Amino acid sequence: MSDFKPPVDDMAFILEHVVGYRDIAALPGFEHADLDTVVDLLEQSADFMSKVVAPTNRIGDTQGAQRQADGTVTVPDAFRKAYSSYVDAGWGSIPFPEEFGGGGFPSVVGLAIQEMLQSSNMAFALCPLLTQGAIDALLHYGSDEQKALYLPRMISGEWSGTMNLTEPQAGSDVGALTTKAVPNGDGTYAITGQKIYITWGEHDMTEQIVHLVLARTPGAPEGTRGISCFIVPKFHLDAEGNPAEHNAVTCLSIEHKLGIHGSPTCVLSYEGATGYLIGEENLGMRIMFVMMNVARLSVGMQGVALSERAYQQSLNYSRERRQGLAIGAEGKDSEIIEFPDVRRMLMTQKASIAAIRRLMLLNATYMDTASHHPDAATRTRAGEIAGLLTPICKSFGTDLGNELTSLAVQIHGGMGFVEETGVAQHYRDVRIAAIYEGTNGIQAADLVGRKLPVRDGASALEFIATMRETLGDLVAAGDDFTAIGAELSTQLDSLEKATVWMLRTGVADPNGVLSGSSPYLRMWGLCLGGWLLARSALAAANTDNADLAQEQLVMARFFAAQLLPAATGLAGAATAGSRDLFALDADALSGLVRR
Ligand SMILES: Cc1cc2nc3c(=O)[nH]c(=O)nc-3n(C[C@H](O)[C@H](O)[C@H](O)COP(=O)(O)OP(=O)(O)OC[C@H]3O[C@@H](n4cnc5c(N)ncnc54)[C@H](O)[C@@H]3O)c2cc1C
Repeated sequence: MSDFKPPVDDMAFILEHVVGYRDIAALPGFEHADLDTVVDLLEQSADFMSKVVAPTNRIGDTQGAQRQADGTVTVPDAFRKAYSSYVDAGWGSIPFPEEFGGGGFPSVVGLAIQEMLQSSNMAFALCPLLTQGAIDALLHYGSDEQKALYLPRMISGEWSGTMNLTEPQAGSDVGALTTKAVPNGDGTYAITGQKIYITWGEHDMTEQIVHLVLARTPGAPEGTRGISCFIVPKFHLDAEGNPAEHNAVTCLSIEHKLGIHGSPTCVLSYEGATGYLIGEENLGMRIMFVMMNVARLSVGMQGVALSERAYQQSLNYSRERRQGLAIGAEGKDSEIIEFPDVRRMLMTQKASIAAIRRLMLLNATYMDTASHHPDAATRTRAGEIAGLLTPICKSFGTDLGNELTSLAVQIHGGMGFVEETGVAQHYRDVRIAAIYEGTNGIQAADLVGRKLPVRDGASALEFIATMRETLGDLVAAGDDFTAIGAELSTQLDSLEKATVWMLRTGVADPNGVLSGSSPYLRMWGLCLGGWLLARSALAAANTDNADLAQEQLVMARFFAAQLLPAATGLAGAATAGSRDLFALDADALSGLVRR
């Protein structure tokens, strides 16, 4: 299997030239995180991920997590060793506040490191990813005592965290959950119910697991308004704050899955387990959104991460495998990289990965601005943009993750479909990313239902206007850039028209808007990708690195000419309304129409 080379050069270029990292490093609190320091950190992280974590990927897939007869869950030895080195090196603590032992770095730096961890081993990376969600919830809503008890050891990675939302009858509709939380009279609650699909819900990689559990208190309002969030530690804490007796939570089973075999996905039973309320009763959904917001971006990044690793593998394969003779070639046979259709697949991978990596890191910089900028109006606007981009990053990033890893399988021909090359694992592993953390359909509904209406649509339209500002620079940059600018301009027109349609249709026909929400979200993804690659090409042209300038220009031109035009193609579906989706009833869809 080919080695994984983390794309640190591209990350450093993006930070310096595309997402304006120097402005982030200038924000109060980030003084120690200047660009040179950060690039150095990324290089060290790349070394660690590729040497220590990446070799565990295949073992996780073949060996997987195992539930033992006594209800404990074991992970491969290689995972435990790699995790212990990960904790010792402090990689998990980078983006968290220094007062709890974190590195105090911007979240954009944490996200870049997370990409490398996820490429190295997505199943393994899910443990810190879920812990990060739980940490964010505690940072925002935990009491001082809870923060002091849990955060330092969760941030160091000694303890892991989980997010317990899903129940058999409550998936996308979280408000349908029925797990109960009954006051014990001493300030704690007795938590009873069953949660399913809980990632890293039970395992032997850390000495403690801090479950964050959504449940209902007696008399709580119906639906999402009546949900509260509790800390339920796997082990009670003794007077010194160390794990002691087992709490009443058990792992009933773990799922057998298409991919991420190394990540235990657990059915957890809470039988009067002691829980500690976070914040106040009925605040659960607000807390859940805090957990999910950063997690959504991290899951979007899984699409980038696995596409990158699969791309590297398919590129190597295309340079080794020889078949037939390419046009104009001499000799007996050619490397398959010489065939135009293989080139098409490789360029689609390379340009798309570059586009979505830029989008993810841009989103994270808006999150950093929203949390750290001294000016309130700038913080608010950055928060609006981060809110707009997050469902796009999650959905477009993971859809592309599925498509690009599929292309990597395709480049391998039959060898892609057999397991021994390892490329099929990336395709299987990434499939879940479009499903969990809010399915991609739910992300599209979030975009049109919650994000577009911000300031009656002005927020989204202003962002389209921001993207248009690059068009003048493209014209000024000369012939090479003109075609890119013309295509981007056409596609932004389509996006704006579809946006206006969505806004106009919204209240009168919400089902019509929801019917077009997924193609509409993809229009955004394509336009954002084309825009960011165009900006990259402009920036690279202004460096003294001719190879870099050529690479960025070709990627922007390829994306603009061959991928971006699909945005206009999607406009029809985005604005078609619901008529034909509902014109056939369920029986007719089942082929039960009388002929
Ligand atoms: C491997 C794995 C790990 C997971 N980890 C966790 C975890 O750690 N913690 C946790 O709490 N949960 C976890 N989940 C659960 C996951 O978040 C849910 O599976 C997901 O939210 C979808 O819920 P569901 O499976 O019930 O599907 P459903 O909600 O039944 O959805 C089925 C289909 O209907 C669509 N749909 C449903 N409602 C709507 C709607 N209103 N509008 C449009 N489309 C809709 C969906 O998009 C989907 O295509 C995990 C799941 C898996 C498989």
